Formats: sequence, C-alpha cells, structure tokens
Amino acid sequence: MPKPSLCDFCGEELDLGQEFLSRVEEEEFLTGSESIREHSAWTPSSVLPARLCEACRESIEENRRELAEDDALGAETARRMVRIWIAGVIFVLGFVAVVSLVASLR
Ligand SMILES: [Zn+2]
Repeated sequence: MPKPSLCDFCGEELDLGQEFLSRVEEEEFLTGSESIREHSAWTPSSVLPARLCEACRESIEENRRELAEDDALGAETARRMVRIWIAGVIFVLGFVAVVSLVASLR
C-alpha cells in the first residue's frame, strides 16, 4: 500500500478522502491548464496544487470567505462615500442657487 501523502502546510497525513480530493485537483490542474504546462520555466511538479488536510483546507476556505466579506464591505463603503459626495454637491449647488435668488430679489 502506498504511503499516505502529507499536508503541504501542517505535515499531517491526509485521510483517504483528502488524498482522493488532492489527486482529483492535481489531475484537473494538469489536464486543464495548457498555458501553465507549456511555460518552459515551470515544471508541473513545481506548480501542482497544494495537498491539504481537512483542517488546513477549511482554514483556507474561511480566509477566502473573510477576504470576500472584506471586499464586499469595502465596495459598500465606497458606494456610501459616493452618495455622500453627490449629496454634498447637490446641497452646495442648492445653497448657491438660493443665495443668488435672494441677491437678485434685492
Ligand atoms: Zn494541514
């Protein structure tokens, strides 16, 4: 029986499910990315996806979710700032219009 693979991050032995998942990811990587395989400076073994145990895989997914949430929060903040800026411009233009109207009535 072949020796089980180790997690590339923590060194834990992969269980059969994680081993299978890692091999499927490697196979998909090797069959689906012609441009990377053809790049002369990279050999497939140097760019294979990391083999991950379940804990490290979950940790990475959690980090991705947190980064996506941060991106969404940043986009919402940017939209809010644009709305505040537009409201400020409209307020200033309205104020100038009222002042001009009052000055023209005198
Ligand atoms: Zn691990």
